[in-house]
This record gives sequence, structure tokens and C-alpha cells, in this order.
Amino acid sequence: MCNSTTCYHALPMLRGLSGRRSRARASRESRNRSNNTLLYFILAVIVFEEVTQVVAGRDYYDILGVSRDADSSTIKRAFRKLAVKYHPDKNPGDKTAEKMYVELNNAYEVLGDNSKRQRYDMYGEDGLKGGEQDGDADDFFFNPFGRRNRQRERRVPDVSVPLSVSLEMLYNGGVMEVSHKKRVICSRWSDCESKCTKCGGSGMIITTRRLGPGFVQQMQQTCPTCGGTGKIGKPNCKSCPKGQFEQVEKMLLIDIEKGMRNGQTITFDGQTDEKPDHYPGNLHFEIDTKEHDRFQRDGNDLHYYLDINLSEALVGVDRIVRQLDGREVSIQTRGVISPKERVVIEGEGMPAFDGVGRGNLVVEFWVQFPETLTDEQRKGVIEILGKPPTKDETGDGTSSASESADTEKTEL
Ligand SMILES: [Zn+2]
Ligand SMILES: [Zn+2]
Repeated sequence: MCNSTTCYHALPMLRGLSGRRSRARASRESRNRSNNTLLYFILAVIVFEEVTQVVAGRDYYDILGVSRDADSSTIKRAFRKLAVKYHPDKNPGDKTAEKMYVELNNAYEVLGDNSKRQRYDMYGEDGLKGGEQDGDADDFFFNPFGRRNRQRERRVPDVSVPLSVSLEMLYNGGVMEVSHKKRVICSRWSDCESKCTKCGGSGMIITTRRLGPGFVQQMQQTCPTCGGTGKIGKPNCKSCPKGQFEQVEKMLLIDIEKGMRNGQTITFDGQTDEKPDHYPGNLHFEIDTKEHDRFQRDGNDLHYYLDINLSEALVGVDRIVRQLDGREVSIQTRGVISPKERVVIEGEGMPAFDGVGRGNLVVEFWVQFPETLTDEQRKGVIEILGKPPTKDETGDGTSSASESADTEKTEL
């Protein structure tokens, strides 16, 4: 029989068998021969049923044509594409397409639902039967950790990490490739572990403390060796020659949608470190916009600071601003611009995340004055703009002899 970990279809069934075999072994010790015969007969029937089921069922990931670590948006896209292709309306009378359409829906019902997908990943189709509350069924079916539901549902806490994203990426949308390291446990953890020798599998140990002559206090505490699970790793497991825990590096493709903002998250289900007896938690990437050297974002508006010279400020600006998607946006003004004056170009800001509309591009002019003027330039300015006012012409019109005297003093 296939016993390799790559044979995924058969895996849930094999696990089921090994669970039942050990059960049978226990029975052999405690019951007589005739009981055993009956038990084997029942087992044979169950095994036969399972074989037919496994042969009939296809792997849900294969049906959708996605890899086992595909993220939820990839799964959604794959389902939509295939559902359109095999839709009964498009294939009238085609039985194969009809069957495919049903399979697609079954597969998506599981893989499109985070908790169902996790159960499927860990226990195969068996994990989807009976429901979580069915304690008896759980005891009967294979249970990889030999524990009850309540403990099986423990999860590794979710992890949130900042994701530094460029403004260009948020403007245009795109896919970011991020390397993610996580700890994985042996793929055959149930075979790989054995009863903890320190606590005998109970997960608790009793310690005694002498309080004084004749007084001894007994205390129960979590076993430090197995951390309360009652199980420890077995050496020389075939599935994990490198050890039960392994650090793996994985490339994650993060879908950045147009217009996303700081603080928005993109979630990868079940991508935290793995821990025995636990479902892995979710990994959240939180958007953190990188500072841009030309633009500043304010909501959906983009601010752009444009240095212009004095001549432009007086006569008019005719410039090009390179937009975040590489387009050239023309900035033209006529007339005089005051320092820090703004021009709003509607619809040239960030695209809105919900897909409706866009912000504006706000261009702020920073007038760069010349540091010095030549005599000739001075003459020219006077000629064009007129002579600067003299002392007598300035002030608030209360000019008097005494005041001019004061001014003369300060000028010294
Ligand atoms: Zn192992
Ligand atoms: Zn222990």
C-alpha cells in the first residue's frame, strides 16, 4: 500500500487505518478470540467503504487547479474562472461539465471557507464529516492527537507584521513577493510523537514540598517536558529526518489593491508557526506606506511640491509632473503665483480603494528667489516694475520730522 506522504488522496484513509489498528491491538489484549473475529469483520467493511470513497473523491486543490498553499484570493479567482467555464448554461446536456460543476462547487465550499479548509488540510474529507460537536464520532474516527475536540481547536495566535509598500504600488496596484519564515512540524506528527516519559502522558506532574516536620504539600503542575500535551517527539522519524520542527522559508505573493491605505491588512490563513495540537493562526500584513521623495499622500489626495523660479512665478508655469504611473501631467498657469500658492488638478490623486473615483493632485508652488542680481538686472527690474518706494512713501501716512529722525538713527 502507498505509504508515502506525497500520496495525498490516500493519506486520510491511511491515518484512519492506523488509528483503527492500534484500537484493534488494544482489543486483542482484553477480549477473547470470537470478539476479535467480529471486530475484524466490521473493520473490513469500514475499510472497504472508505476505499471506494477515496477512489471516487478527488483532491479539492486538484479540482480547482491550485497549489496547497494558494491564498484565498487565488482560490476565489480559480473557482470563478472554472465555474464560468463549466456552468450548465454554457454546456447544455454535457454530463461531464455538469459533474465538473458540482465538483467545483463542493471544492470551493470547503477551500473557500477558512475553518473548513483548515480541517480539510489536517484531516482530509474525514475532517469535514460529523461536525465539531460530535464527540463520539471524533473518538471513533482518527484523531491525530488522541485528544478531544476542545483541545483540537486550539489555535496559534494570529500574527501581524508591517509591510512596507511604495506609493507607486498603492497607486497602480500589483503583487509583492515576500519571503516568510515559519516553523513547521513534522507532517506525520501523530506517528512522530510518543507518550511523554516525564508525566506518563497525563500532561501534569505532582511535586511535593516539605513545609516543616511532618507537613508535606502536594502540588500539581503542568509537565515542563511536554508542556502539558502529554506527548514528546520520537527520534528517527522517517518523515522528519531534520527533526520534528523545521524552519522553512516560503515566498508569499501579496495582492496589493489600488488605493489601499496605511493600516489595511492582507491576511494569509494558517501561516503562523505550527505547534502540535494547534491549528496554525493567520498571518496579517499591515500596510505601511514608504515615504516618497516627490509626493505626499493625504487621504486620496496627492500633494506635490514644485520649485519654480521668480520668472515663472511672475509670468506663468509650463511644466510636466511625472505621475506615479509614469504618465506626464501638464501643469500650466497664467498670471502671477504667490509663494506656496496651490493649484488643484482634479482626478489626478490616488485611486479610491472602493473603486469609485479618485482624489486630486494638489500642486504647491515654492518660489525660489534669486540669491543675487547683477546691476544690469536691477536696472531691468526697476525699468519694468518701477522704482521701489522711498522712505517718504512708505509707512502708515503719519510721517513727521521726529519719526524720520528716529528712522535715521536706526539706519546708523
Ligand atoms: Zn516526524
Ligand atoms: Zn509530559
